[in-house]
Amino acid sequence: MPGPYDVIVVGVGGMGSAACYQLARRGVRVLGLEKFEIGHAMGSSHGLSRILRLAYFQGEAYVPLVQRARELWLETGKITGEPLFYEVGALDIGQEGSGVIEDARAASEKYGLSHELLDRRAIEERFPAFALDTDHIGLYQPQSGFVASERAILAHVTLALYYGAEIHGCEAMLDWKPTAGGGVRVTTDRGVYEAGRLILSPGAWIGDLVPALQASTQVVRQTLGWFSPLRPSLFDMTRFPVFTLEAQEGHFYGFPLWQHPGFKLGSPHFSGEPYDPHLPDRQPSFAQRDLLRACLAKHIPAANGDLLGLKACMYTMTPDEHFIIDTLPGFEQVIVASPCSGHGYKFASAIGEALAELATSGRSRFDLDMFSLRRFA
Ligand SMILES: Cc1cc2nc3c(=O)[nH]c(=O)nc-3n(C[C@H](O)[C@H](O)[C@H](O)COP(=O)(O)OP(=O)(O)OC[C@H]3O[C@@H](n4cnc5c(N)ncnc54)[C@H](O)[C@@H]3O)c2cc1C
Repeated sequence: MPGPYDVIVVGVGGMGSAACYQLARRGVRVLGLEKFEIGHAMGSSHGLSRILRLAYFQGEAYVPLVQRARELWLETGKITGEPLFYEVGALDIGQEGSGVIEDARAASEKYGLSHELLDRRAIEERFPAFALDTDHIGLYQPQSGFVASERAILAHVTLALYYGAEIHGCEAMLDWKPTAGGGVRVTTDRGVYEAGRLILSPGAWIGDLVPALQASTQVVRQTLGWFSPLRPSLFDMTRFPVFTLEAQEGHFYGFPLWQHPGFKLGSPHFSGEPYDPHLPDRQPSFAQRDLLRACLAKHIPAANGDLLGLKACMYTMTPDEHFIIDTLPGFEQVIVASPCSGHGYKFASAIGEALAELATSGRSRFDLDMFSLRRFA
């Protein structure tokens, strides 16, 4: 049996790769197991980029976590020499008094975050790509932006290897069992490994590895589109932010041009299109493509060019849309991390740190109470 290891991390995606890095830099002997290649497009973290907004009002625990995450994205980007966080600003657009505006405003005021309220005219003057409804307003957060999600997984793995971690791609965990000494024995399709602790960060496959969570999580397909911009200069990173838009047609989010010639647009679907992560491919939804097209036609006409690409990706939803970061009841040596519900990536760097702290000392500097498994009891 190879090893020995202090910690085995199963699932080297967004969260698992950050955990491997944070463990390895602490001198922990870590083995990361990933069933696909490292940096694949079958899970929840592909599609180049993810929005990082600082004004979070979904719960007290999120703002300190996202602030730390932003620090770590900046720090890790400096270490690897390629930025992982791009501070292009974030603009939330909705009607006055709507949740999207009021929540972001309340969070900004409560946590002293820089922000600016803009009326429709001010938005269209500053960001002429938008054609908004007369009652639209926006809240702009200059310190927000986006994370290079695909690059970040590779960066975390690169650094984890540098610090001595062992990472196995194309190796799936089949089973784990507690050992008499209080550790774990993990069986994969290639071998058997033992460690003192196990971190399960399998994203959409959480129900396979923690069957008790099958009933309380739902995997939902998302479709991202890339469209040929008719006026590319309007979407340049220096003058176009990441945005969310609440419109009559639905909810949308988008990015400035980055690492792709197309304008990237998505529409979050929190329910309604359950998806099986075991399917061999990731077919996008053409209904979602049409919805994206409707948004472009009405609100972002300068990006309403030819379709350049579509990609399907998965959200793993919990009923309250909060994450799961906790030890498994009855097995203190096993930590479960399924931080998705469609908004987890921005936190990945800090969640990796929290997981490393939990695995090495049993506690984290972050308040993780609202992410506990108790709420599903
Ligand atoms: C279209 C889309 C847009 C999003 N937009 C945003 C956004 O703007 N901002 C934001 O913060 N978040 C966003 N999210 C959510 C965010 O991307 C997810 O929360 C995050 O990617 C989840 O990371 P993860 O590590 O849990 O999952 P993944 O990155 O999918 O990693 C899980 C890994 O576990 C591996 N695995 C599973 N089972 C096994 C096994 N048995 N053995 C070995 N390996 C295994 C998988 O192969 C996978 O690599 C978005 C998600 C999607 C789909």
